[in-house]
Amino acid sequence: MHLVDMLALRPVPAAAVFFSLTRRCPLSCAHCSTNSMLTSDEQPAEVFLRFADSFTSADHPEILMLTGGEALLRVKLVQQLIERAHAVGTKVCVISGMFFAREPTVPPLIRDVIATVDHFTASLDVFHEQQVPRAQVFRVLHELVDRGQDVSLQVVGLDAHDPYLAEVIDDIRQTFADRVPIMVAQVRAVGRAKTWLQQQPAHLPHLPLDIDPAPCVLAAWPTVAFDGAVVACCNQAVVDGPHPEHLLLGHAAVDDWTTIRERCLSSHFVRAIRVFGPHYVAERYSAGNGCDGYCATCHKVANDPAVITQLEPVISRATMPIVEQQVMLMQQERFSQGILTYEHLRWLGYAPEKRAVCVG
Ligand code: SF4
Repeated sequence: MHLVDMLALRPVPAAAVFFSLTRRCPLSCAHCSTNSMLTSDEQPAEVFLRFADSFTSADHPEILMLTGGEALLRVKLVQQLIERAHAVGTKVCVISGMFFAREPTVPPLIRDVIATVDHFTASLDVFHEQQVPRAQVFRVLHELVDRGQDVSLQVVGLDAHDPYLAEVIDDIRQTFADRVPIMVAQVRAVGRAKTWLQQQPAHLPHLPLDIDPAPCVLAAWPTVAFDGAVVACCNQAVVDGPHPEHLLLGHAAVDDWTTIRERCLSSHFVRAIRVFGPHYVAERYSAGNGCDGYCATCHKVANDPAVITQLEPVISRATMPIVEQQVMLMQQERFSQGILTYEHLRWLGYAPEKRAVCVG
């Protein structure tokens, strides 16, 4: 599965689910959004296995995204989840910081598990490079690419003008002869980066009727958080908790996939965030509850008990599903996350003639 095929599903509600398998990580990158350490928390394996057992051939996410911390610290759990997912037709993507690439050879179980995933994403940036040398990451990726496995690199920089980005992208493209797609994003002031990175919040205009809808594309895929709660998006503050009330979909220890999918599709608040975005919802339906920041506004509004009453007649309109479909199609045309300048790099290595059309 190519990165582009995965991104085509990104705006499709409940097309995939994230499992935050562990907050633990053996690396200590300065920008770590999850503030991970080797001693960080994780849920028992049974919580994830039980939830994955509720996927069926008739009702399952298209993609299971396994992330952390460092997901491959729980390599046996990853293996068990892949077996369950594949048995019902769910594809699996693993995202890794590549700690194992520091060894001269990849440990056999990790090598075997990676060989069975449908897409493997490696993180590479100036902070990871202080922990795992680039040449060693490239050595492992070469093995995967040479045997025909779908891989991608997730690269972050301070902004579009960060000279590191131009240099590393050039190196990746030359090293892999443009066979490896790259997703380029900006470091955010969350987790450990909050201690050293200042980011200006986007200021809201204070004329309510001037606010245009700005749909949130990240409110489509549920995320099993580090504490087992299932939330409506992968925003780190939402995952870390406290989970805003209207973004909480359930818990992996007690709910099944069908229930979570249904809540993701039917929640009035989550549907409104997907179509209008938080600023518009705040100003129109939550008595001017907007504040600095896109997600900060969403958090604040998600705890407003009045907003659901205000949204009910709007979301219940017969035309709403048509509007939702149109918004989703527009987002599929262009998934807007990441640094725009480098958006074209997602297409590297894409060979559409070899792949099924993926429209969600
Ligand atoms: S706007 Fe809300 S739903 Fe979207 S990513 Fe931010 S917190 Fe999550």
